[in-house]
Amino acid sequence: MKNIAVVGAGIVGICSAYFLKKSGFQVTLIDKEKPGTMTSFGHACSFADYANVPVNYPGLLWDIPSMLLRKDGPLAVDFFYIIKNLPWAINFLKNCRKEKVDEIATSLTNLLKHSQLSYDEIFKDVNVKEFISHEENLYLFDTKKSFENYEYANNIRKKNNVKVRNLNKDEVKELEPNIADVYYAGQVFTGSRHTTNPLAISNKIFDKFIELGGMYINQNVKNLIQNEKNIELFMEDKKIKFDKIIICAGAWSNQIANMLGDKFPLDTERGYHILFETNEKLINRPVAWSESGFYLIQIHNGVRAAGTVEIAGLNKSPNKKRLNMIERQSRKVLPQLGKVQSTWMGRRPTLPDSLPIIGKSQKNNNVIYAFGHQHIGWTLGAVTGKIIDSLSQDHIPNIDISAYSPARF
Ligand SMILES: Cc1cc2nc3c(=O)[nH]c(=O)nc-3n(C[C@H](O)[C@H](O)[C@H](O)COP(=O)(O)OP(=O)(O)OC[C@H]3O[C@@H](n4cnc5c(N)ncnc54)[C@H](O)[C@@H]3O)c2cc1C
Repeated sequence: MKNIAVVGAGIVGICSAYFLKKSGFQVTLIDKEKPGTMTSFGHACSFADYANVPVNYPGLLWDIPSMLLRKDGPLAVDFFYIIKNLPWAINFLKNCRKEKVDEIATSLTNLLKHSQLSYDEIFKDVNVKEFISHEENLYLFDTKKSFENYEYANNIRKKNNVKVRNLNKDEVKELEPNIADVYYAGQVFTGSRHTTNPLAISNKIFDKFIELGGMYINQNVKNLIQNEKNIELFMEDKKIKFDKIIICAGAWSNQIANMLGDKFPLDTERGYHILFETNEKLINRPVAWSESGFYLIQIHNGVRAAGTVEIAGLNKSPNKKRLNMIERQSRKVLPQLGKVQSTWMGRRPTLPDSLPIIGKSQKNNNVIYAFGHQHIGWTLGAVTGKIIDSLSQDHIPNIDISAYSPARF
């Protein structure tokens, strides 16, 4: 059986390695960090099967100034970084045309509608029941205007059969009595679920992969050589030849794609989390605060406030102002929060059309890409892994993946 390397042990790489191993491949998962500890660790915990509305939306260009001026708004930008990377920003804005947004939403829906089934296939084999909650996600709107502005998103959801329920103030209060009286209305995503411990789920799937005979190498992939029949990966103190390689290196994937002669407009949307101490159950479900673009989620070791978007590249150190903002707004929404236990910054891998790249390299048939899952990579980990498994067997996946083709750039 073919010998495959999966580079990157985030949720996309872990799920890909799992499905490949199940199909009988010889699989080596490689990561410079411990499995599941980068972007896939600190997110907002939602299996967001409903999240088919891209960040690109008609009118975004006109909203950007007011978003940036609001001290506690969801978006922050490093202008020097943007100026240096203007083509990406222009490309991103070009994808805000209404017809394009509709097209992106349909393509995201096509993946999202298989996300739960694909995870459930893994969860039949890997017991993660204790880390999953079925309390549906709640989105809170601060004003009547923000509630009404959301109509465009509701229409996109409706068109794609994603079910939501609007709630008035009293109905929100009934679901979440501890939330302060700072909101106008709410919306619940019907049937959504979330995890209370993302790292535990990643580790459980990873452990099963190892139990099935998978290999793990904890090293940085520094270079590669493409031979006629194989690809040789150079790590810190090893070099190994593989028949195929899968690149699932999240926001860092371009660095490896460049070694292969491919170049993609991949950038990162940085996001943050704060973990607050608490000894009691404060909220039952993920509660999104639309004014500032983050979720509050009660997880196994506290309440995590996770989200926001910052465009500032991969390498700049975390921005204290964003963390202060999340803390300030979290305490406004949930005043009972305890002390800050820890803070974190993660890097969402994002392409300008908010669609991932899933498919074979144009340059080398033995290289398959799976990255760029932006705000919903946790949700799409398993379905991406299934597609990677089909492509590795040279089968046509049972989902139309043309919209995610690497050839589109
Ligand atoms: C604040 C925030 C909230 C979010 N909330 C949600 C949510 O609620 N629901 C949801 O679905 N998604 C959410 N996301 C998005 C989700 O977290 C990401 O899309 C997802 O984790 C990306 O997974 P990945 O496997 O592609 O990347 P990662 O988890 O980043 O994994 C990539 C791996 O590649 C490794 N790597 C890179 N280069 C090399 C190399 N040269 N050699 C070896 N290893 C290498 C890295 O070390 C890393 O472990 C959120 C993101 C953020 C930041």
